[in-house]
Amino acid sequence: MATVVAFHAHPDDETLLTGGTLAKLAAAGHRTVIVVATDGHMADLDGRKAVRLGELEDSAAALGVARVAHLGYADSGHGAVLYADPPDRVRFARADPEEAAERLAAILREENPGVLLSYDRNGGYGHRDHVRVHEVGKRAAELAGVSRVLDATLPRESYTRLVRLLERLRIPLRYDPATLATLYSPRSEITHRIDVGPFAAQRKTALSAHRSIIEGSSRFATIANALLHLPTPILARALHWEWFAEEGAAPPSNTPLDDILQPAPR
Ligand SMILES: [Zn+2]
Repeated sequence: MATVVAFHAHPDDETLLTGGTLAKLAAAGHRTVIVVATDGHMADLDGRKAVRLGELEDSAAALGVARVAHLGYADSGHGAVLYADPPDRVRFARADPEEAAERLAAILREENPGVLLSYDRNGGYGHRDHVRVHEVGKRAAELAGVSRVLDATLPRESYTRLVRLLERLRIPLRYDPATLATLYSPRSEITHRIDVGPFAAQRKTALSAHRSIIEGSSRFATIANALLHLPTPILARALHWEWFAEEGAAPPSNTPLDDILQPAPR
């Protein structure tokens, strides 16, 4: 049985990028671990428990994840301004990358995973914490000797189509159309495409565990609420796949692999 560690920026990122793959691995008897860089809070916690880490625990339980770990950083936010650090912790975007990689590498040495799931170099839609996950994930894998890193991503072409569809349905996404050219990964770089349709109910439970986010007005809340209102069979069709690009692999010449434990040709 294999161990797979999924490295994410914030609680909730695990659900739509890797939730089905993690549930599928767990259902097959593999050990899965989620590591989040940040607790998802912008402000001073002032001794209070980070609410979003608790929600992540509930989400992870729905996905059959064996362990959840946090690297101890604060959310850096996605706006134009990178705010000063809260008094009790450093924002991930301002952390020393080598120190952050060492914190992740310490967990990787304990878990000895066959695969580390990380993010593409664009950090998906460009959130500074997501870009940093790509860099820190890659470095931590080197430090801990994890030989396979798969970047969780989306085929840019599909994402662009989805954005256009949501625009037609008048679901506001507040997108700068120019950013569509650099979102996620071109289809030509995708090495793995995992069929996660059968795990739609678990992903729905995982998504709904992030209560503090869903009740808000963020872009993620808009998308999550739209998805949670779909009947599970429709959700299974809408979120049928999860996509990965293996670091160091040759560009795939045909259909992507459907098992992340199977290495892409180099
Ligand atoms: Zn995030």
